[in-house]
Amino acid sequence: MADKNKALKDFSLAVYSCRKCGQCGNKVTDAVPYVCPIKEASPGFDHFYSRGKIVIAQGLLEGDINSSEELAKVVYSCTLCGNCLLKCGAIDRESGEPMVDTVGIVEAMRTDLLKEHPEWVDDEYKALLTTTNQYDNPWGVPRSVKEKWAKKLSLPNALQKSSEVLLFVGCTAASNPALNARAIKAAEILLKAGVDLSILGKDEPCCGSVQKRIGAADQARVMMNKNISLLNKTECKTIVTLCAGCANALKNDYSKGKEKLKPRVLHLVEFLAQLLKTGKLQLDKNQNRKVTYHDPCHLGRHMEIYDAPREVLKALPGIEFVERTATRENTICCGAGGGMRLFESGTLAGKIGQAAVESAAQTGAETLVTACLFCEMNLEASAKIMNSQIRVDDIIDLVHEAV
Ligand code: SF4
Ligand code: SF4
Repeated sequence: MADKNKALKDFSLAVYSCRKCGQCGNKVTDAVPYVCPIKEASPGFDHFYSRGKIVIAQGLLEGDINSSEELAKVVYSCTLCGNCLLKCGAIDRESGEPMVDTVGIVEAMRTDLLKEHPEWVDDEYKALLTTTNQYDNPWGVPRSVKEKWAKKLSLPNALQKSSEVLLFVGCTAASNPALNARAIKAAEILLKAGVDLSILGKDEPCCGSVQKRIGAADQARVMMNKNISLLNKTECKTIVTLCAGCANALKNDYSKGKEKLKPRVLHLVEFLAQLLKTGKLQLDKNQNRKVTYHDPCHLGRHMEIYDAPREVLKALPGIEFVERTATRENTICCGAGGGMRLFESGTLAGKIGQAAVESAAQTGAETLVTACLFCEMNLEASAKIMNSQIRVDDIIDLVHEAV
């Protein structure tokens, strides 16, 4: 097959830069008990963490290993959390950057598998891609549903009336009635701060993030290119996303295409921190709670947004903020990323989520706050399984309560 391992071949240099040192699977310090959540939640053999996955990638490139159903399971057992990338022992001497794009390698292996052997890829992933083709969102709801949340707010459609800020809600908060409140609260906070705001409602496309993560790189690129044209048409200056995955896609993945996105992209927590600094956002209602924060991988390790959410939380009256032991770039992944909640009915995602909840509970906090709907869903489900008393909330809820 002429095109065999096509996507992986683009990562050959990264694959051969791996020194097989195993640092991506080691304990880092007492404060950071492990690098790879999958290694920790599984029997822990080499192929569950980065070193083993890269040995497999090399074997595929050299023709020593053939794809198989078992191999597909290994390749999809990764939350793409990026911790191994940050802890990688192969550092470029000049730039100081890691030389092994561990996340890119796994995504490339998924891309090749999905193209060459879709029969070995979990049915849930293929169903998600079919749904995206039919409805232009992974949740399978008609486009008209995506504007329902905004009915009472009378926000203009950005394609008809340009505004300073476009609130990009994302498919999850826009399509899921249980999460619509997040979109409403975000819009209400921004309107209260006097932000000139618009939305796209039923015209809001899926950002393409989840499709790219599960290996549908071509489908995601088509979606992303189409979205760039649409978003540029709005002539908005800033796009504020509610979803951490959308923020990472719009900022990092969109910039890799030929066409560039003209508006700047900020996640809501960054924008809220800016509004606080300029005095446009006032937080005055007291809420007595001890909280800790979970850094979503998309926001933290992939976008280095660590300070903004902490600035917002510390500005909330009555809030006592405590850090977990493993925090910021060392945060324990929630377990839901990289499509893991769909995979194996989320067994591994559940185990990893419980470890993340446990680390939050150890702080004595009553509330575990995050800024990603996927983290929230997995952490909440994990807390329930554990009968944990800790409550899981989105930062939007706390800010909304304070304005
Ligand atoms: S990205 Fe995260 S889950 Fe995947 S191999 Fe690296 S540390 Fe493990
Ligand atoms: S991915 Fe990086 S840390 Fe892991 S074995 Fe290779 S060089 Fe070492």
